[in-house]
Amino acid sequence: MLFSEVIGHEELRRKLAHAARENRVSHAQLFLGREGSGNLALALAYAQYVMCENPSDSDACGVCTACAKVRKLAHPDLHFAFPVNSSKSSEKNPVSDMFLAPWREKLLQSPYITEQAWYESLNLDNKQGNISTHEAEAIMRKLSLKAFEGNFKIMLIWLPERMNAVAANKLLKLIEEPPAQTLFLLVAENSRQMLKTILSRTQLVSVPPVHDSALAAMLAREFSLTQPEARTLAHLANGSVVEARRMAGQSDDKREYFEQFVALMRLSYASKAENIILLMQQAEKIAGQGREWQKNFLLYAQRMARENFILNQQVNDAVYLAGEEADFSAKFAPFINPNNIFRLYEEFNLALQHLGQNGNPKIIFTDLVLKLVKLIVPLK
Ligand SMILES: [Zn+2]
Repeated sequence: MLFSEVIGHEELRRKLAHAARENRVSHAQLFLGREGSGNLALALAYAQYVMCENPSDSDACGVCTACAKVRKLAHPDLHFAFPVNSSKSSEKNPVSDMFLAPWREKLLQSPYITEQAWYESLNLDNKQGNISTHEAEAIMRKLSLKAFEGNFKIMLIWLPERMNAVAANKLLKLIEEPPAQTLFLLVAENSRQMLKTILSRTQLVSVPPVHDSALAAMLAREFSLTQPEARTLAHLANGSVVEARRMAGQSDDKREYFEQFVALMRLSYASKAENIILLMQQAEKIAGQGREWQKNFLLYAQRMARENFILNQQVNDAVYLAGEEADFSAKFAPFINPNNIFRLYEEFNLALQHLGQNGNPKIIFTDLVLKLVKLIVPLK
């Protein structure tokens, strides 16, 4: 991973490269940022920069032997520890080394991974992963060896918040006084879940959410979206590369959500008796979809309600709608107003909650459409 492949964070990249160049490399650094911020991508790029045989002022060369090995996550002096677990009782005391193959595969696809997605790839049957005392012992063993290639040894620990107290205590001294030319790169999302004693021994590299403009550029490039579409999604993604990609990847589904939303709203605001039958049919149609679809549809409906309300209040700068959504909303916005926005929001939330509790979708959505008929009326 090169610094130039990290999405956004130009200033932080410059700072990291500068510090490494000036030999102001702290031996234990904490890359702290929310899921999707790119904290892992930055740590990998940093590791490659430190190990590169021929770095420029701002980035690794990308072509030397060290770069090639780091890129494949196969440099013998770049070690990884991450939360693991096993669904099979045959695998006793699971440690990261047993899962290096899926780890490499996942990271080589993209270092913007989530804890959830990682566990799903391990088929853990809803178990959480952890960094155990066996892992701590493995880390100590690895770092007691001499560097294979004679330069730095790096131990990258992803999600140190999953380390239990015993394991963390075993590592304290090593993190405080590592052997020469040894770096700890801790990549965390939630410092409150980490032991204070570990925190106090690391230098903080604070990774902020990714800037909207960097996200929009990435989306436009990867999903061939138009500029307005990319900007809208980038804004909604809240600084998360993972979220932005997830939303863009759903654009086929989004088309369905839009059509479904429009159908429901048209039937609701016309409020004629025969429409009630048609609404019931729509409710059944939604109830026939998968649960994930239903949840995402409700989130979509909630977003449309919010954007239409803002449009109705004519704070246009704050509205993030493009294309068909904007066309529809130009006419529909007056129906979402201070008299119903809170109730609407609540109703979508309630439906989401009931779905989460495994309620019967047919009842949930029938209930919802009947409420919509009452709620969707223009402001008098
Ligand atoms: Zn290089």
